[in-house]
Amino acid sequence: MKSLQEAISCVSGYDPDALPVAKANEVIRSFVKPVSGVERLPVRAALGRVLARDIVSPIDVPSHDNSAMDGYAVRSDDLRSAEPVTLIEIGTAYAGKAFPGEVGRGECVRVMTGAVMPGNTDAVVIQEAVTTEGRRVTVPPGQERGQNRRLAGEDLAKGKPALRAGRLLRPADLGLVASLGIGEVSVRRKLKVAFFSTGDELVSVGRKLKAGEVYDSNRYTLWGMLERLGCEIVDLGVVRDDPKKLEAAFRKAAAGADAVVTSGGVSVGEADFTKQMMAKLGEVVFWKIAMRPGRPMALGRIRARGRSAYLFGLPGNPVAVMVTFYHFVRGALLHMMGRSDTELPLLRARSETALRKKPGRTEYQRGILRLKDGEWSVHLTGAQGSGILRSMSEANCFVVLGHEQGSIAAGEYVDVMLMDGLV
Ligand code: AMP
Ligand code: MG
Repeated sequence: MKSLQEAISCVSGYDPDALPVAKANEVIRSFVKPVSGVERLPVRAALGRVLARDIVSPIDVPSHDNSAMDGYAVRSDDLRSAEPVTLIEIGTAYAGKAFPGEVGRGECVRVMTGAVMPGNTDAVVIQEAVTTEGRRVTVPPGQERGQNRRLAGEDLAKGKPALRAGRLLRPADLGLVASLGIGEVSVRRKLKVAFFSTGDELVSVGRKLKAGEVYDSNRYTLWGMLERLGCEIVDLGVVRDDPKKLEAAFRKAAAGADAVVTSGGVSVGEADFTKQMMAKLGEVVFWKIAMRPGRPMALGRIRARGRSAYLFGLPGNPVAVMVTFYHFVRGALLHMMGRSDTELPLLRARSETALRKKPGRTEYQRGILRLKDGEWSVHLTGAQGSGILRSMSEANCFVVLGHEQGSIAAGEYVDVMLMDGLV
């Protein structure tokens, strides 16, 4: 296993006090390693899990050449390019019930979609194109060799990988696995992630607020984000800003989880005693990241009772927690889960308003993407303070303003990252 210092030494121009987002992710990516551990599951139970081994197709899918349409299976050699031809229908082929004989010159077979192509035939003429009179079927000119025929193995070829290890299993994949006749798959074990909130001002839902107190909302957003990633979650509650209590919570997390995510307690004023306490438990670095929202963050690995967990110490502000989770922790956890595809697409949209932005930091503003005048356009969800959780709740995308980017004029294009997907 790579130490944190080794991971950091691989990154050029490393400055913990002004770390660009991309560099932070570079360190995280080379530091964090996938967990081992594989389980066999029935196909449906594997939805949302990460495939642990390639699935090699044991059969061709489809297993035989078959008809893509309802119509008539013909021998292309019988047809003529410039004039109609009349053929004699000698039987019918259904999906699941093949035509038993061979088809001779001048003959054809009525076929249904999915029926195995009758012997000697190589194309299907759709039923709407022909005229019939008893068993006489007249085919117009202009048909193509091989038309409306699905080839054996055109979907999945026997002996070839149908699905690669490292992919998230989605509904289409469950169907694809079933189409191979496979009932069980090997997936990576679930990642176990512990989390807690820190802060003397925090009150759990269900109690009355006194002056200066706030309800602990981060444990709800964090729970939701971890749940959506498919983690096994260990909620360690609210921990007071007290080194002994913090140490106990970190030890518990390190002994029982693969990773621990905390919120609060990493900003400049608070970091000092956390730093000392964490130094006892393992290796931890404190960063000031060139981003907004979400500047402070801690990364490390802590140990207890012979076990260890990666540590992600996120800032306390409710929006900063979510932004740093999505842009650093999400990718790290997916990598730990064995996922090979963790990048999210950025789309271009027209900004409806001017946006103020300083070069030298990455910003994740909360936006609403919508179709306007036939084009995707985006505007912000009001005030963008890092304590205004409503800005996340109302948004359907992040407006991502890159490190070098300056201010944006109304009507210019910006990068947006969608918050919801189809599957
Ligand atoms: P900190 O990073 O601990 O200095 O916290 C920064 C700000 O976020 C403060 O205003 C905290 O009250 C607020 N905050 C910290 N943790 C939470 C939480 N779990 N839920 C809601 N607000 C929080
Ligand atoms: Mg705090």
